[in-house]
Amino acid sequence: MHELIQALLKQAPVITDGAWGTQLQARGLPVGVPPDPWNLERPEQVAEVARGYVEAGSRIILTNTFGANRVLLERHGLAARVAAINSAGARLSVEAAAGSARVFASVGPTGKMVAMGEIDADELRACFAEQVEALAAGGVDGFVIETMSDVEEAVAAVSAAAATGLPVVASMSYGSGKSGDRTIMGITPEQAAEALLAAGADIVGANCGQGPDTMVPIVERLRAASGRPVWAKPNAGLPRIVDGAAVYDQTPQVFAEGARALVDAGAGFIGGCCGTGPAFIRALVSMRS
Ligand SMILES: [Zn+2]
Repeated sequence: MHELIQALLKQAPVITDGAWGTQLQARGLPVGVPPDPWNLERPEQVAEVARGYVEAGSRIILTNTFGANRVLLERHGLAARVAAINSAGARLSVEAAAGSARVFASVGPTGKMVAMGEIDADELRACFAEQVEALAAGGVDGFVIETMSDVEEAVAAVSAAAATGLPVVASMSYGSGKSGDRTIMGITPEQAAEALLAAGADIVGANCGQGPDTMVPIVERLRAASGRPVWAKPNAGLPRIVDGAAVYDQTPQVFAEGARALVDAGAGFIGGCCGTGPAFIRALVSMRS
């Protein structure tokens, strides 16, 4: 395990951050518009989200780069800006962290599947290499490969990130299948842990897809399969759909109680995904103390 991960875990559970997309929408990002270009167009709004988490007590914040890969950006005519959007995203979070939090860069899926013949493995690897190299140049402390459902894609991202020499967290989204214990591509926690650690991940985890309570058995299984503390970022419960938009009703207090069960199940890093914000991080900080 990378020495930075080991050092952070000496004060486990390590509180990470919450959702970014909804925080940017609250600052004027239209729903359906990709948030990543705001690193160049509206940097002050992005910096505000990052500072909000640092002030709430996050010891690790992420970056506004979840969808900043070439495959997704070229759909918006931004293929030439991949490096600029990622390095700006890295710098904004590093400046906001100001030495009081670590910055782990967010890397999400491309939306293209090798298994469906939509992209080949070499292209996928090159796409992630381009993104992680720009993030590393921007000064991040590590990477979080997150919200993955296809293990082949996650492995491509992990191996590209590990090649930088920085620590790598590999997190997939579970909640599908009969027992709710698979990704939408049918991958189990055990299959993910084995493949992601072999690809160079320092630790594995789960994010999105489910609330804290249903994530408990997933974290237990990831802990057992990896033999390492787990990264966990559940949603604020299950959403209601109102006028086509997901609405999360779980309060920060209820969320933090659920998070305590995740820590007991083996989570060494804990934060929130969809439906969470700085108030949820403050609740986690109080839960911890
Ligand atoms: Zn989410």
